[in-house]
Amino acid sequence: MKEHTTTKRTRGASTPAKNFMRPRLVTKTLLTVSLCCALLACVKNPDTEESPKTIINNVNIVDPVKGLLAQRQVVVQEDKIVYVGPIDKTKAVDSDTIIDATGQFLMPGLWDMHVHFLYDEALTDTMPELFLRYGVTSVRDTGGDVKKLSALREALKDAPAPRIYFSGPLLDGEFVVYDGTDPSRPPLGVRVLNAESAMNTVSALKTAGADFIKIYELVAPATYNSLVAAAKEFDMPIASHVPLMMTADVAGPAAGSMEHLRNIELACAANWQELLTQRQAAITGFTEGLGYALRSGLHTAQRVPAINAYDETRCNEVLDTLTNTIQVPTLRLNTVLMLKPFERPDWPSAATALPQKVLENWQARITMLEANRLTIDHTFANWSQFLIARLLERGVPIGAGTDTPIGLGIPGYSLHTELELLVAGGMSTKQAIYSATVTPAKFLGLEETMGQIKAGMAADLILLSENPLENIEHSRSIINVMSRGSWVD
Ligand SMILES: [Zn+2]
Repeated sequence: MKEHTTTKRTRGASTPAKNFMRPRLVTKTLLTVSLCCALLACVKNPDTEESPKTIINNVNIVDPVKGLLAQRQVVVQEDKIVYVGPIDKTKAVDSDTIIDATGQFLMPGLWDMHVHFLYDEALTDTMPELFLRYGVTSVRDTGGDVKKLSALREALKDAPAPRIYFSGPLLDGEFVVYDGTDPSRPPLGVRVLNAESAMNTVSALKTAGADFIKIYELVAPATYNSLVAAAKEFDMPIASHVPLMMTADVAGPAAGSMEHLRNIELACAANWQELLTQRQAAITGFTEGLGYALRSGLHTAQRVPAINAYDETRCNEVLDTLTNTIQVPTLRLNTVLMLKPFERPDWPSAATALPQKVLENWQARITMLEANRLTIDHTFANWSQFLIARLLERGVPIGAGTDTPIGLGIPGYSLHTELELLVAGGMSTKQAIYSATVTPAKFLGLEETMGQIKAGMAADLILLSENPLENIEHSRSIINVMSRGSWVD
């Protein structure tokens, strides 16, 4: 990470908006306007009965579809963008806030498609603020207790926080990987054993407010199909790991997204059929023990051998079945032991935002990793990076997600690392931005209202000092973030 972006970020964060507000026309500070809109109903203009507008002039729009749109005016009212186009001077009234953003860049708020608010409850309360600080205005929580997630979303309804879309628990098989037995692994999963429990579980999740479902690795193939049917019945998108008793080309097409690129390597091996038979026998024959141990045993036994037996023709056949299934590679997670984000120059200042207890815990893990570094195998990390170009060539959609806070993922900060890794893997800067804006909106069927800067869309915006289309690292040059129509200060 280059030092200059860190410096600018800090500078921008400490003096938001000061240098680009036009004092003559500004009737309130941004902070007052934000608080006013967040906590009370915005004061309406008595002449027009309209809520005050935020008008951003002369800004360069970073459009994930069209690229750079220079010198536009963007008008925000309440939580929506109401106008994007040439500067229209008639639009401003006295109660509006006008910002001159000459030379600056406005990007749609980013999504992190893979987060876990409940993975480390010492961090849960800090996560919303951190997401917003880094411009992550929407997240998909891909596994956790549905009641707690629903309560969290409710509690944050009127607070500065990202939009939260959640799945509830990991829907697993007879053995559950995250069953809560080991205190270091939270109880994120539940057992689903047959068609009836699949239907009941998905129905209950829908009632509890879940936006999609998340299927996990030890689910039986018949139950997987039942869950797919139930999700269809209740109109819920599916995020899934590839169940170990299936292959990516069989399970994947039924899902809206698949996570971590994990177990795709098992389907891309020349001997995929033999590996599948072995896994099915191992799972069927497993009668006692921990789901976590069963899964890691299979990963250990098959992952590296499968990558060593990679067959491009076979893999192309697999990838060609996934052109409607978003892959969320979580490259940041897959490469954490190899690329060591904690050695980046901007890591220490980002990590200071973590609660002390979490920071100490992470530091202990970093010390342990350093001690073991010679024995760490990087085959899957390298394969994950390699696969990005293959996905792009075969037209498989890619979404940006981090799995934060798992694997030392600092909320918000780690999404920018993910964007950099996607670009390093072969995506253009525009494709990477698309993967964190339009693609996640599409997963939830929200692409008409989120993901771009257009009239009628959500006012989730990031004002940047530098152009991220030129260099993806500039996504970190944040001056200010707007979430649901209010600036986050
Ligand atoms: Zn996860």
